[in-house]
Amino acid sequence: MTGRDRPRSATAGSSVVFFYRQRAPRHRFCTPGHPSRGATVSQTVTETDRARVPRAATRPNGQWKVDGTAPLNGNEEWKQVDNGIAVRERIERIYSKEGFDSIDGTDLHGRFRWWGLYTQRKPGIDGGKTATLEPHELEDRYFMLRVRIDGGQLTTEQLRVIGNISRDFARDTADLTDRQNVQFHWIRIEDMPEIWRRLEAVGLETTQACGDVPRVFLGSPVAGIAADELIDPTDTIAELARKFLGTDEFANLPRKFKTAITGHPSQDVVHEINDIGLVAVTHPQLGVGYDLWVGGALSTTPRLAERLGAFVAPGQVTEVWRGVVSIFRDYGYRRLRGKARLKFLLNEWGTEKFRRVLEDDYLGHALPDGPAAPRPTAQGDHIGVHKQKDGRFYIGVAPLVGRVAGPLLTGLADLLEEHGSLRLRTTPHQKLVLLDIAEEHVEPLITALDELGLAARPSLFRRSTIACTGIEFCKLAIVETKQTATDAIASLETRLAGIDVPQPISLHVNGCPNSCARIQTADIGLKGQLLPDGNGGQTPGFQVHLGGGLSSPNRDEAGLGRTVRGLKVTADDLADYVERIVLRFLADRSSDETFAEW
Ligand code: SF4
Repeated sequence: MTGRDRPRSATAGSSVVFFYRQRAPRHRFCTPGHPSRGATVSQTVTETDRARVPRAATRPNGQWKVDGTAPLNGNEEWKQVDNGIAVRERIERIYSKEGFDSIDGTDLHGRFRWWGLYTQRKPGIDGGKTATLEPHELEDRYFMLRVRIDGGQLTTEQLRVIGNISRDFARDTADLTDRQNVQFHWIRIEDMPEIWRRLEAVGLETTQACGDVPRVFLGSPVAGIAADELIDPTDTIAELARKFLGTDEFANLPRKFKTAITGHPSQDVVHEINDIGLVAVTHPQLGVGYDLWVGGALSTTPRLAERLGAFVAPGQVTEVWRGVVSIFRDYGYRRLRGKARLKFLLNEWGTEKFRRVLEDDYLGHALPDGPAAPRPTAQGDHIGVHKQKDGRFYIGVAPLVGRVAGPLLTGLADLLEEHGSLRLRTTPHQKLVLLDIAEEHVEPLITALDELGLAARPSLFRRSTIACTGIEFCKLAIVETKQTATDAIASLETRLAGIDVPQPISLHVNGCPNSCARIQTADIGLKGQLLPDGNGGQTPGFQVHLGGGLSSPNRDEAGLGRTVRGLKVTADDLADYVERIVLRFLADRSSDETFAEW
């Protein structure tokens, strides 16, 4: 029996007593364990894992419903005084007029995030200084600005606006993130009112793009489009955004809260690493709805989400989502930010208690038990040409590690319109999916897209490599990522030319341990660090994680990659290392063995 179909018991109807830590942790903290395989959702809790969990009631964890709402740290204090939603008015009225030096420190380093704004890293500061300099010494007077794109859904009009903002205010920078957002750099505070005006005129926003709030709602990039879709979550995602963005109800959570919803059988929204995941499933009596997952997140203490075993009918998604976020708001740990994600509460409660509290105290009714979704039969990145339910086609294309630019985006908008399309989607894999292409336009468009820098038939590693922001702009970074990954892809395309690799092998490049590009769920995950250069100095490099992955046609269930002590590679040797491991895999594998099984 696999983790996918392992039954969970429903416990609706029992009463709940709210005492901190009333039972021992029963569920799994999925850190790497077995020396030769990625850990899985069924892995046993270790003593190290237990030690990570906040314990004993001698020190309150800052759970509002257990310990009261008195703030236990500075962050919680300023969030209660004035949460981040309110800072928009000050940006418009004061900071954008009086400039960077007029910005209050708590607004700058705290509340600005509620509107998608972070200060970016000062150019030229090497990774060795990241841990030794004060934060303000690393900080530039420019911002990273994140635009949330719920469900990844864009029109060509919106794309053109994003491209023009990139050109006019962001020095032509724009990155597609692995959460379906677009990220600009070099933004000045003086330009924010005009940027918001342009975005909001076409229905885009930066509201709650960062901060301790519900972040962008990940949605299937082929929602409402794919011929093999089970259910279209578009209206559900729009309802969540309409009801909960910019309101006070969830403007002060313990930390960020991530949502993923898909109606496509490829399970294309990385639901296993979200705080809540809703994955389409067919219930034998109740029809199509969603399988409910909670408590996933990576970072330095990775944990895969778990099924609650509950079936959520399409009409119940909003109340169930609201219930889960409310549990996080009310019971999430707030004392230590490093323990303030939902995964830590789930680890303490276990799935049975979590479901019981959700049903009894937040929904007021039980949810029916439901089946698990079957193993995906297709890759969830949607690269290549696929038929839509209306007979037209969608085309998934790969920029290089999500990096695009103003001219590319406006050029793409023009190109799509020339070929009769007005819609596209971003994906959680730093890719784009172009919709509504008539058959006679497919090949001419693919040729034109290639010239623009978007590959519909990318090489193995162009397709399956993602990279985080890295040292170019990120204040936490230790090493460079985007260019390193781009160079590695180019080199691997030459080195592996003509070699048939029968399955995707993912390469995820991260500039530090925070895992924004999902170190632990890649076949080859790379965690940025400085390595000895052999001459008494240091050189950029990576700790290697092997064998991780999410549900896909190549693996039945998600598992976290393992680190191998001492297995590190310098940035300069990255392509060489990947080539060696791929060739060794191809030589060693038995007939249909996957990279994760190897
Ligand atoms: Fe920055 Fe680290 Fe996240 Fe990369 S993984 S974007 S370097 S915090």
